[in-house]
Amino acid sequence: MAGTVDAPGVRILSGTCLCGTVHYEVEDQFRYSLNCHCSNCRRTTGAAFKPFAGIERENFRITDGAERLLVFGEESAHDAHCGKCGSLLYSLVREATFVHVTLGTLVDAPSIRPSAHIFVGSKAPWYTITDDLPQYEEFP
Ligand SMILES: [Zn+2]
Ligand SMILES: [Zn+2]
Repeated sequence: MAGTVDAPGVRILSGTCLCGTVHYEVEDQFRYSLNCHCSNCRRTTGAAFKPFAGIERENFRITDGAERLLVFGEESAHDAHCGKCGSLLYSLVREATFVHVTLGTLVDAPSIRPSAHIFVGSKAPWYTITDDLPQYEEFP
């Protein structure tokens, strides 16, 4: 259930893709959140940058539609999209120990907020960052 308390003090957030085929749950205990401007994130989302948040893999689970996931990349490092509508739901990173959840697919609002812009060195020239968050050429 969305937004309910699973274990003492731990909020569970739910998320889903555009068409609703794939659903996931994640603990509201993200370790970091960033806006990534690298060309891979721009292409896979079709947006100026990708807001995401990172959490240990065991605190994230697909609750519906796992068999419909389209995995782009390798077993230990990949992007996972809905195989029907194409939404990018998460990336498996850091030797498969962390997931980077796309904030745009969350249904419930996380406690964390993006704290910086990364890979600004490859930012789209047509997009201007207008907030005061720190900017890093690559990954800090
Ligand atoms: Zn979908
Ligand atoms: Zn990126």
